[in-house]
Amino acid sequence: MKPSTQTTEERAQIKPGPRVYARSEHSISRSQVSENALKVLYRLKKAGFEAYLVGGCVRDLLLGREPKDFDVVTDARPDQIKKVFRNCRLVGRRFRLAHVQFGRDIIEVATFRGSVEENSEHRFLNEEGRLLRDNQYGNIEEDVWRRDFTVNSLYYNIKDFSVIDYVGGMEDHLSGTLRLIGDPETRFREDPVRMLRAVRFAVKLGFNLHPDSEKPIAGLADLLNNIPPARLFDETLKLFLSGYALQTFEMLRHYDLFRELFPLVEDSLAEEEEGFPKLFLIKALENSDARITDGKTVTAYFLFAAFLWNPVKAEAKRQIQQGVNETIAYQNASSEIINRQLKSTAFPKRITLAMREVWTLQPRFSRREGNRPFRLLSHPRFRAAYDFLLLRIQAEGEDPALGVWWTEFQEVSELEQKKMIASLSRNPQRKQIKRRRTNKAKAVNRHPQDNV
Ligand code: ATP
Ligand code: MG
Repeated sequence: MKPSTQTTEERAQIKPGPRVYARSEHSISRSQVSENALKVLYRLKKAGFEAYLVGGCVRDLLLGREPKDFDVVTDARPDQIKKVFRNCRLVGRRFRLAHVQFGRDIIEVATFRGSVEENSEHRFLNEEGRLLRDNQYGNIEEDVWRRDFTVNSLYYNIKDFSVIDYVGGMEDHLSGTLRLIGDPETRFREDPVRMLRAVRFAVKLGFNLHPDSEKPIAGLADLLNNIPPARLFDETLKLFLSGYALQTFEMLRHYDLFRELFPLVEDSLAEEEEGFPKLFLIKALENSDARITDGKTVTAYFLFAAFLWNPVKAEAKRQIQQGVNETIAYQNASSEIINRQLKSTAFPKRITLAMREVWTLQPRFSRREGNRPFRLLSHPRFRAAYDFLLLRIQAEGEDPALGVWWTEFQEVSELEQKKMIASLSRNPQRKQIKRRRTNKAKAVNRHPQDNV
């Protein structure tokens, strides 16, 4: 381990004092701040402490967006915060934070973190420059330098409703620039996840990544290898389930970051064996974004099953060529691909189980003799697997007649269902073609996941 190379003095040289924007010089009004967050701010102030809103909520308020949550920082230490609020729990072992609870709403209150001097026992970097320890308390002037982007580092002061800006964040807001505080390479090395955050915020806010912040990314992308897969999984959810998945995917690939999260998918895209993998992925991402825009829910497992579908298929195909039967081949391939993916992102069990079911049910849609369609229909994961089939028809060249048949099979009476199965075995080809003519539009226009 070696100590940080950047001293407080050097950091202070980047930007000297703060610029304070009075209430009349910015657009944040208290009516946009949640009642509970205001209560916390006022209570801390009344108890004689400093209290600010900081981070994503200030950024979003300045953009006129509704923040996901409100984060508060203060000079009060955790034990002092606890004394101010009865409804307060301290969490986190390494760096204690206070959670102030109002029913189901939680306001997170953090104590300012300190800058840590060169050679200090509190600040250690590993061989690649990753920050291993950073757990000192400090004041606002120190707290600001350990934040990531200038637009995430503005403080809304409850004392006089001003916005305090040490790093030029307000100007960057106005010009739509996402810029790392300090030396970009050092900051990415300290925490490589900041590279993923850069993409997430650039897409979400519609900001341009500043050229200096952008430059080191491609060269440092592989530092993400050393980040625990559990943390990368959390970040992956934020990247792909926020309504901008398609743009995020394109930008991650542009910076060579996508391969760090989904190496098998990146390889399958590079091969483009049948010309379909990219189209399939794009359709899945588009559908998912459209659902979020429409206020519908999206399921993580469905999207990640779509991501990894081509690697699963390729592996199953390989096994089938070696003489393994189709069902077993898909089961083996699912296990194999999941095990390899878990090295990058630690998907929890509930997600991998559901992905595996969606995949292994796919070959069963083509087997429609006897009781099989009834068994498939009563499978708990049928609806998701059926939506996945429709996606394959939309974007993978799977036979539309198969989708039409299954759509109809779900809608008719049991007697009709039996007739559908029987007529398939009498003359499968003719019946399929006839139904395709009458019902094609119906199935293809349905949205995958509509029933998930
Ligand atoms: P979101 O809208 O996704 O919640 P956010 O900016 O609030 O965006 P959080 O992850 O909630 O993001 O973090 C809150 C704040 O903490 C950030 O705005 C930033 O100032 C700081 N922060 C979070 N993660 C990092 C990091 N990896 N490095 C430096 N600062 C960080
Ligand atoms: Mg936040």
